[in-house]
Amino acid sequence: MIEAKKKFGQNFLKDSTVLNKIIQAMPRNDRKLVEIGPGLGDLTQELLKVKSLVAYEVDEDLCVYLRKKFSKEIDMGSLTLVHTDVLSQFEKGSLLNEPYDLVANLPYYIATTIILEALEDPYCKSIEVMVQKEVAEKFAAVPKTKEFTSLAILAQSIGSAELLFDVDPTSFDPQPKVVSSILKIDKQKEFVEGSFSGIFENKEQLQSFKKYLRSSFQSPRKTWLKNISSEFYKQSVKNLMQMHNLPETIRPHEISVLSHHLLFKHLRLNDARKRSNATTEQQ
Ligand code: SAM
Repeated sequence: MIEAKKKFGQNFLKDSTVLNKIIQAMPRNDRKLVEIGPGLGDLTQELLKVKSLVAYEVDEDLCVYLRKKFSKEIDMGSLTLVHTDVLSQFEKGSLLNEPYDLVANLPYYIATTIILEALEDPYCKSIEVMVQKEVAEKFAAVPKTKEFTSLAILAQSIGSAELLFDVDPTSFDPQPKVVSSILKIDKQKEFVEGSFSGIFENKEQLQSFKKYLRSSFQSPRKTWLKNISSEFYKQSVKNLMQMHNLPETIRPHEISVLSHHLLFKHLRLNDARKRSNATTEQQ
């Protein structure tokens, strides 16, 4: 009998209806599959009926259990079980060295970090994950709602994000204190140009965009003008807003994903010009 460990966010999914719905919604294609946190293997078992997969599990006790449970699949090569912290694998680069789809019931304590890492992993092509409902709502949020922040903008800059359905705490053992949801993100683009075409030329640009988003949303109730003026000259921001017909009272969550990108691009260009003028003046 394996006791669930709170420190690893272990809530095992025991509801066959929910398991079926996850399988129904997963992409059907030739790509490999990656699962994070196979746990006691209930979802793994269903996934293996469709495709072979690579699974990352941090808990050694569960790995021992899974190696026994899936000894046949591991021997046949349809399941590769990797005993490691998935975040350290992301740090090394990718979860797989070829395009893959991610399907998982994520450990909630690091769910947002994992999704952001997967979004940046160019080999990850789609994400179907169980997360806390609030997290799913943030990634799938539409402009003009209070949930629309940097997470929605990052996800929707490169794909579509959708909350598929909610899952009641009674579907798990032990039961979590919160309602869960299945979040689906289909990536149509990548952040950084490399072997895949990206919306930014390099990682520095992506980092600057994230910095721009942090400034834009630092006080979500304040106007975007006030927030972003901590980073850029207020007068240049005002001119830019006029150019784009944006009222000075607009708040960061009222600006669309596309407009955030346009504003970022103009501000970055202005900033680069300012810096190059300053260098010329110094010479
Ligand atoms: N997939 C199983 C299910 O649906 O019943 C278990 C899901 S449970 C919510 C989260 C799983 O992620 C656990 O098996 C836990 O040990 C694992 N986990 C937690 N932190 C992890 C990490 N940093 N890297 C890899 N796996 C992790």
